[in-house]
Amino acid sequence: MCNSKKKILLVEDEFHIAEGLRFNLDLKGYEVNIAKDGLVGLEMWRKWKPDLIVLDLMLPAMDGFDLLEHIRKEDERLPIIILSAKLEAKDKVRCFSKGVDDYMSKPFDLNEFLLRIERLLKRSSWGDGQKEIVGESEAIEKIVFGSNRVDFTKNEAFNGSEAINLTTQEIKLLKLFITNEGVPLSRQYLLETGWGYQGEISTRTVDNFIVRFRKYFEKDPKNPIYFRSLRAVGYVFNR
Ligand code: CA
Repeated sequence: MCNSKKKILLVEDEFHIAEGLRFNLDLKGYEVNIAKDGLVGLEMWRKWKPDLIVLDLMLPAMDGFDLLEHIRKEDERLPIIILSAKLEAKDKVRCFSKGVDDYMSKPFDLNEFLLRIERLLKRSSWGDGQKEIVGESEAIEKIVFGSNRVDFTKNEAFNGSEAINLTTQEIKLLKLFITNEGVPLSRQYLLETGWGYQGEISTRTVDNFIVRFRKYFEKDPKNPIYFRSLRAVGYVFNR
């Protein structure tokens, strides 16, 4: 199964953008289909079953928000990246609250776009195993980064000789980051996985946890090296 081509559906009404992306994704070895409006997108999502969707917001027939809503009612895990004209803050909030994994504003950098696609696909193919890992504590037992030591078997954490008291929720989130070392995690994904996101919890909650992690584990919380923010993506843990 690992060798089969990943399928990417582009829901995009601007011909030159869609064709340009198809060309480049094709070079990367993906199988690509284009839907020129939201309704066709909905139909192709059902019939073709893509592994990832690149979604424009302003579309004929059915806009991207509506399409997103339809998809998320039936599939919460399919990676969806928004590719849209400059997004306002309220649109971004709307996207994430409707379950978008990532977004990029047009005009965009092609290499960055391709990298994000690759990471989303990689993450989603780990998805199921990852959920198990998060729930079962045997997967990651101990980790050392900088002057920090975390022992998940005892739920203990130390910064130097100083013990850090982690709550159950902090341990869960910390484990999620450490399991996914080097993989950017969106706030939405962290909410869904860490809290079983139901729509009432704001992505601010995630930010507050990161603030705490930095206080616990970073030498200089204002210039973090382990728990870094990625603009427009979320957070990433690196040793
Ligand atoms: Ca458009």
